[in-house]
Amino acid sequence: MRLKDKVALITGSASGIGKASSLLFAREGAKVVAVDLKLDAAEATVKEIRDAGGEAAAFAADVSKAKDAAAMVEFAEKTFGKLNVIFNNAGVFHPNDESVTNTTEEIWDMVINVNLKGVFLGCQYAVPALLRAGGGSIINTASFVAVMGAAVPQIAYTASKGGVLAMTREIAVEFARQNIRANSLCPGPVETPLLAELLADPARRNRRLVHIPMGRFARAEEMANAALFLASDESSFVTGTTFLVDGGISGAYITPDGDAPQR
Ligand code: NAD
Repeated sequence: MRLKDKVALITGSASGIGKASSLLFAREGAKVVAVDLKLDAAEATVKEIRDAGGEAAAFAADVSKAKDAAAMVEFAEKTFGKLNVIFNNAGVFHPNDESVTNTTEEIWDMVINVNLKGVFLGCQYAVPALLRAGGGSIINTASFVAVMGAAVPQIAYTASKGGVLAMTREIAVEFARQNIRANSLCPGPVETPLLAELLADPARRNRRLVHIPMGRFARAEEMANAALFLASDESSFVTGTTFLVDGGISGAYITPDGDAPQR
């Protein structure tokens, strides 16, 4: 078991990558604190974990609120005695988040508050808890759009993920000698509820698909496996990294008609 005796707090655990990670981390021996805005759905994740013989507890929090972020970390320590891993995974994508020229201030504020400030607050309250536990692992979900312009503009989302990447690097450097590792997980497009509406439209789906050398979207479980590596001691010399799990997007130059590379 790769996370035996570890306590892991995962935000956004009601759905998608967070849910898949909660189930996997618990299977690997972690006690999981499943945090989400949607308590009922987080409780459903916990029920699945318990039904499979694992240990978990659900907690309702809005990661963009300081008092909720403080409370979720306190809940983890009170419930399971310590905190070893925090996976700041909760995030949002707004369908009207588009070009810099037409994205509204409201959308900008909403996306930055959850995706960037939420990760900042998660780290702010988790770091002291990790130090109390003798160190630990921070995994912050960025995106491949943090390292390259998205083919379809989504300015607030891209800016939020770029911020996560830079912030995580700095946290990694600051706490490296105190046994805390911090890494950014940068998924390529994943088939989760986050993109369900967008990917249901064949034209919009294809516009994204053409950029992926593997010719398919990722599954949430593939991100959970990457997060598991970063959470476990197997990644003990990995910190401050930009962990791209993107089906080859960032490594490729693909023609706009989506042809696979030809000789
Ligand atoms: P999802 O929509 O399936 O799940 C996100 C979860 O976060 C939901 O359960 C939601 O209730 C929760 N959440 C949203 N706002 C919250 C808040 N303020 N406080 C607490 N919980 C909140 O999404 P997903 O695809 O699993 O995305 C997870 C992370 O991965 C996000 O940070 C997302 O930006 C990132 N990501 C996703 C993709 C993709 O293609 N799906 C690609 C790159 C990065």
